[in-house]
Amino acid sequence: MWVDGEERAPRLVLRFAIFTALGLALATAAIVLFVRQESTIHSQRYAVDRTHFATEAVLKPELRPEDLKARPSAKRRRELDRLFEDRVLLEGIREITLYGATGRATYSTAPGAVGRRAPEQHLREALGGAAVSDVHGSRDGTRVLRTYVPVVLGSNRTMGVAAFEQDYAPIAAAGNRSGWLVGGVLEGALLLLFLIFAPVLLRVTSRIRRHIAEVQHVATHDEVTSTLNRQGFRHAVEGKLASRQPATLLLLDLNGFSEINQAFGSDSGDALLAEVAARLRRDLTECELIARLGEDEFGLLLSGSDPADVALVASRAQESLAPPFLVDGIRVAVSAGMGAAVLEKHGTDFTTVLRRATVALSVAKSNGRMDVEIYDPSLEIDDLSRVALVAELRDALDTGQLLVYYQPQADLLTRQVRGVEALLRWQHPTRGLIAAGEFIAVAERSGIAKELRRFVLETSARHWREWESVGLNLELAVNLSAIDMLDVSLPDEIADLLDRYSIPPWNLVLEITERTLSGDERRTRQVADRLHELGVRLAIDDFGTGYSSLSSLRRFPIQLVKLDRSLLADAPGDAAAEAIASGSVEMAHAIGACVVAEGVETREQWTFVYTLGCDIAQGYLVGRP
Ligand code: C2E
Ligand code: CA
Ligand code: CA
Repeated sequence: MWVDGEERAPRLVLRFAIFTALGLALATAAIVLFVRQESTIHSQRYAVDRTHFATEAVLKPELRPEDLKARPSAKRRRELDRLFEDRVLLEGIREITLYGATGRATYSTAPGAVGRRAPEQHLREALGGAAVSDVHGSRDGTRVLRTYVPVVLGSNRTMGVAAFEQDYAPIAAAGNRSGWLVGGVLEGALLLLFLIFAPVLLRVTSRIRRHIAEVQHVATHDEVTSTLNRQGFRHAVEGKLASRQPATLLLLDLNGFSEINQAFGSDSGDALLAEVAARLRRDLTECELIARLGEDEFGLLLSGSDPADVALVASRAQESLAPPFLVDGIRVAVSAGMGAAVLEKHGTDFTTVLRRATVALSVAKSNGRMDVEIYDPSLEIDDLSRVALVAELRDALDTGQLLVYYQPQADLLTRQVRGVEALLRWQHPTRGLIAAGEFIAVAERSGIAKELRRFVLETSARHWREWESVGLNLELAVNLSAIDMLDVSLPDEIADLLDRYSIPPWNLVLEITERTLSGDERRTRQVADRLHELGVRLAIDDFGTGYSSLSSLRRFPIQLVKLDRSLLADAPGDAAAEAIASGSVEMAHAIGACVVAEGVETREQWTFVYTLGCDIAQGYLVGRP
């Protein structure tokens, strides 16, 4: 299953916290080092000051110039030993050595040091009047601080240098101590800060992550149906393509949804879509994904590519949609057209697979099929010419290539023309005059039907008015598509038309086919009833082509029944056709309808339909459109 948040939310706050902690730790380390250094220097200076003090307070008054010139006598050495023992070798001062101006040691508390030379550099600086010190390892492995102090005696002359050796450990320890103290306090404060801010940081992080997840959800989901949207579907299909597992993309497009949307409003339309999605999700459990790709178009992703499995899912989808939907308390039947394309086989990228599934879908829809059409390259040609036709048809409407022809209808009793049927023609720039039969089915499924209806109604009403003005009072029959009868705005449109052209309602006949009435009966009847209330007459066209019986039409306010010309093609002569024709006439009369015989081409047929009891004849014998 594809999950949200393919791009994970960056751990911004965590990163910030880590960098801050690192930065602060570095700063703390620097401060600790600095403090340690400073404090060591301070301790060292203190130690040096002590040697200065010792020199001033003890050596200056007690030493004699001879002590520094040459090795003192044994008696004097004992005196000096005692002096240093008692007054200088205290508080960490471990050793003292006296050097003469020549740099040679004349006396030392350490055995064996006498006669050694002081380091040149230190000697020179100390003889110059400055105290110098350095740290180095001593003989016993510990570290010592050695300080060279000038010894000024008597007439303020620097007679030599006294070298003090002190334990360095306490000095270093003092530095470390203050370093650790400062560091500890700083780290403690830092830790405290983090403890205080951690929950805040966590909250902020989770809020940011939630927000990012929301944004991602909105970007990949459809609000109305809570399914994936096109973008999300694309992601998923691309993932599937990358995994190279066999899968099929199934497109499902609702029939007549825009009419429902128009009739009930988009809120109800949305509710219906949500219900459709919910049913598909509930019933098509083998579907990996359901997405809403367009207004009333859904995309499903099935694993596997076996046509039998795809067909099974398709029929389950149709079953799932079969129970009527409740829209504003009205039961509405919804069906769908379906097309499928197999991943890899029919395309290796999302766009191609989707386009090919769309081709299959449009072929399925234009053939009015309820089962699924699976893509095949041969469909492409068919679809392209159809698509081109629709595009051209729109153009034709705008550039006045569409015309309305009229075919006369004669009263079988009086032999007088009493009405005409309006038939659409297309004066195509290259293909010549095209009859309605060749393009009306395509137009009906392409969403252009409504514009065609308006055009035919408007044109024929205008013509009717012209005929009327020259004294011709004719019945005008206009054909309607199945879709027109689902359009609840149709009655108002007709009322307005009659009003504008002052056509008595009884003069207008609207022809619908049986098939139209077998659709969403509830809504079609609502429209039919309102047209009937206007006083307009309704005719059942192409009757006898086998969709339903007259008895099922009883519920509709029908005034005319038009016997399909196929019934006459064989009759007279074919007993079965004759029987069906005469039975139909009887039944039509029984529900109080007039009967129009279509396709009357010969005198024999005229006589035949006359003897059957038909009322009106239409066909080439009476007149071509
Ligand atoms: P339809 O309503 O049954 O129209 C009669 C069709 O039969 C017309 O074809 C007409 O030219 C043809 N026809 C008339 N008399 C004869 C005859 O004696 N013999 C033969 N063989 N044919 C005859 P057309 O004009 O091609 O129309 C075909 C269908 O297209 C119509 O069938 C109708 O269902 C539909 N149609 C035509 N105009 C419109 C329109 O304006 N709107 C809608 N929605 N459908 C239309
Ligand atoms: Ca007709
Ligand atoms: Ca007909």
